[in-house]
Amino acid sequence: MKKVAVFGSTGSIGQSTLEVIRNNPNQYQVYALAAFKSVALMAQQCIEFNPQYALLVDAQAAAELKQSLQNIPSCTTQVLVGVRELNGLAKADYDILVAAIVGAAGLQSTLAAAQASKTILLANKESLVMSGQIFIDEVKKHGAKLLPVDSEHNAIFQSLPSEYQKDYLNQDICDFGVKSIILTGSGGPFLNEPLASLSSKTPAQAVAHPNWSMGQKISVDSATMMNKGLELIEACWLFGVQPDFIEVLIHPQSVIHSMVRYLDGSVLAQLGAPDMKTPIANCLAFPQRIVSGSEHYDFITGSSFDFKAPDFERFPNLYLAKQAFKLGQESTTVLSAANEVHVEAFLKEQISFTDIAKFNQIILESYQPAAVDDIDSILAIDQQARRLAEQKLQEA
Ligand code: NDP
Repeated sequence: MKKVAVFGSTGSIGQSTLEVIRNNPNQYQVYALAAFKSVALMAQQCIEFNPQYALLVDAQAAAELKQSLQNIPSCTTQVLVGVRELNGLAKADYDILVAAIVGAAGLQSTLAAAQASKTILLANKESLVMSGQIFIDEVKKHGAKLLPVDSEHNAIFQSLPSEYQKDYLNQDICDFGVKSIILTGSGGPFLNEPLASLSSKTPAQAVAHPNWSMGQKISVDSATMMNKGLELIEACWLFGVQPDFIEVLIHPQSVIHSMVRYLDGSVLAQLGAPDMKTPIANCLAFPQRIVSGSEHYDFITGSSFDFKAPDFERFPNLYLAKQAFKLGQESTTVLSAANEVHVEAFLKEQISFTDIAKFNQIILESYQPAAVDDIDSILAIDQQARRLAEQKLQEA
């Protein structure tokens, strides 16, 4: 029985994780749940899974949760509150952390889990985008185990040899005959829309992803392809390669989740229905296999596969992400922070859809790079970039 902590349990990945655990009750036990302030859903999850701990970062929400669980005798969950306790909980007595808090807010707790030598199932790509080398170094130093939940990275991982998988953070991918990584992406809901129409797209249209059901932030990132940009950076850190080693390929059906091209001309791919339960189950059970609850892909009734090269005019954020990686760690932190601010402003209808990339570029170009050698400097840069982004939004 493995004890699992799910950080971001009320979100899309968190709920899919609990669904996989629901399907495998004899192998996994929920040890801790954490989220920001979704009291009602967290209460339901506590009643169903009776974890040892449930944490809400928001103090009022945590107090409400405590009160609502008081009258449920079968639920013995202890309620915790705040960021400090979240980071402490990351070091507690469990086996596997599913790191599924959205955005920069997920960085410190994921890092704390690495320092406590946990097995980390990483969904929170922003933490790797922000802290790259520092994060990977901490994982290696403390003998933590890092498994990629993001469907593309999970597909790449599955398409690599088991000898590589065993100790992949310490191996050179080129020693295994790999020529390149093919990172696929659907292109989001506006792939075939006239370019001139993009500036008038609404938040509701942007979050309506054609294939995946996801949280709001990542859905907007998919529509701008910033998500692919963040994934490209994530893949560079996970697999120890440079951006030019990665071919980004648009595949609107989202059935091929990514591929690996080998020197001999072979291409290995991982395919399946677009459902995050599959990569979550793959990581939970690795190197075994368990039932995920995801539908099995039907090739007869499924659609044909299309491919297309990405277009930087339509998706300037993808270009910015590549540039940021080449500029260095502080630039990817700045881009990720600025993007969070701009996505939020778009969701609140303060800026247009195309403004997201426009403002991201302004912040990336106006930021004066500073040295990054520890997590405190990363967090300071993150805060500075957010302030700068908010200031520019007010001036606009
Ligand atoms: P959601 O928006 O659906 O869920 C976000 C979760 O994070 C919620 O549980 C939320 O709690 C919690 N949260 C938000 N802010 C804070 C905070 N300050 N402190 C603690 N918890 C917080 O996001 P997704 O599940 O879509 O995505 C989660 C992560 O996984 C992201 O990094 C995303 O890029 C990545 N990912 C997601 C995929 C998907 O299919 N959804 C695919 C691959 C990666 P509350 O409900 O209380 O606000």
